[in-house]
Amino acid sequence: MFICTGYAAQSASSPLAFTTFERRDPGPKDVEIEILYCGVCHSDLHTARNEWHNTVYPNIPGHEVVGRVRRVGSEVTKFKEGDLAGVGCLVDSCRTCENCVEGLQQYCIPGATGTYNSPDKFTGKMTYGGYSKAIVVDEDFTLRMPANLDLAASAPLLCAGITTYSPLRHWKVGPGQTVGVIGLGGLGHMGVKFARAFGAHVVLFTTSESKRADAERLGAHEVVVTRDPEALKPWIGKFHFILDCVSADHDINSYLTLLKRDGTLCLVGAPENPQPIAAFSLLGGRHSFAGSGIGGLPETQEMLDFCAEHGITSDIEMIPIDGVNAAYERMLKSDVKYRFVIDMATLPAA
Ligand code: NAP
Ligand code: ZN
Ligand code: ZN
Repeated sequence: MFICTGYAAQSASSPLAFTTFERRDPGPKDVEIEILYCGVCHSDLHTARNEWHNTVYPNIPGHEVVGRVRRVGSEVTKFKEGDLAGVGCLVDSCRTCENCVEGLQQYCIPGATGTYNSPDKFTGKMTYGGYSKAIVVDEDFTLRMPANLDLAASAPLLCAGITTYSPLRHWKVGPGQTVGVIGLGGLGHMGVKFARAFGAHVVLFTTSESKRADAERLGAHEVVVTRDPEALKPWIGKFHFILDCVSADHDINSYLTLLKRDGTLCLVGAPENPQPIAAFSLLGGRHSFAGSGIGGLPETQEMLDFCAEHGITSDIEMIPIDGVNAAYERMLKSDVKYRFVIDMATLPAA
């Protein structure tokens, strides 16, 4: 064990603050990564504040983790000291169920081990995430980070990136299709970039008039500001696929009616409260309402390699670690442009 520093929530209502905790020394298959940058996902906020009603405190969030390998176990073959490495939302899974065997570890049947707030089989405590100085992860759950991309701007690919890439690939979004993305936050702005890169006609739905120009710069062909409910009317029946990236309560039915016959609306946003779906939003056009969770390790590496080839990263705003509570408040006001990333050099070492 070694002593590590981090930022933790001690309860649902306390701000995150400096803490020290223990990490395991790397075992034979582990890599130890000095964390350089960590993205701030809305899931970190949902978890720190117990909005999904499953948080065990203390909670150290962070699952968009990038850094440099500083120690490797004796059996590690993919990494050596000094390599760039990344860790996303998963650090382990059963590895034997049908979903794990297919590389879809996020759907592990007994349950994958999340990067934070999951029972940690090594320490008997909970897993602690990337708002910290270092992390120790099995090489099978560690990603190779592209050397040609800005490292800080690549961190959000590990959650916001894969969470949008995976459903767009699964539903085969591409040329000739009209694709909607709802919400221009961390996930939404990556959804726009990927849908555009895959060749679709991309329409971004936003509650923020101020994001219109950015949405176009990020790749949207058209932008619909949804404060005025009339704004959706011209789009009824127009979409092959819609990716819903909203973090809070919203009327999903009004977007289901925008689907073409046999179109799919896929939810990746995870609001605290259940969102009602009306039968007639689905029946009329044989619409599908679907969901998708992050992505497995092989697809996450494929996504990183795709980003390397196409020069895709996240648009980020760098913050010091003691700015994370203010960043959460701004996220709640939809004031993100378009992902906060923590510069881990600002976190004191042990
Ligand atoms: P984020 O950066 O805070 O972006 C959320 C965006 O949703 C906001 O910027 C805003 O965009 C829009 N929005 C917020 N409140 C709204 C409301 N009341 N009505 C309509 N639109 C609203 O959050 P994120 O990190 O992208 O995460 C989005 C959601 O995905 C979160 O719930 C998160 O937990 C979840 N998530 C799920 C997965 C998964 O595996 N499925 C993975 C990661 C995250 P506009 O200003 O453009 O309206
Ligand atoms: Zn996330
Ligand atoms: Zn499994």
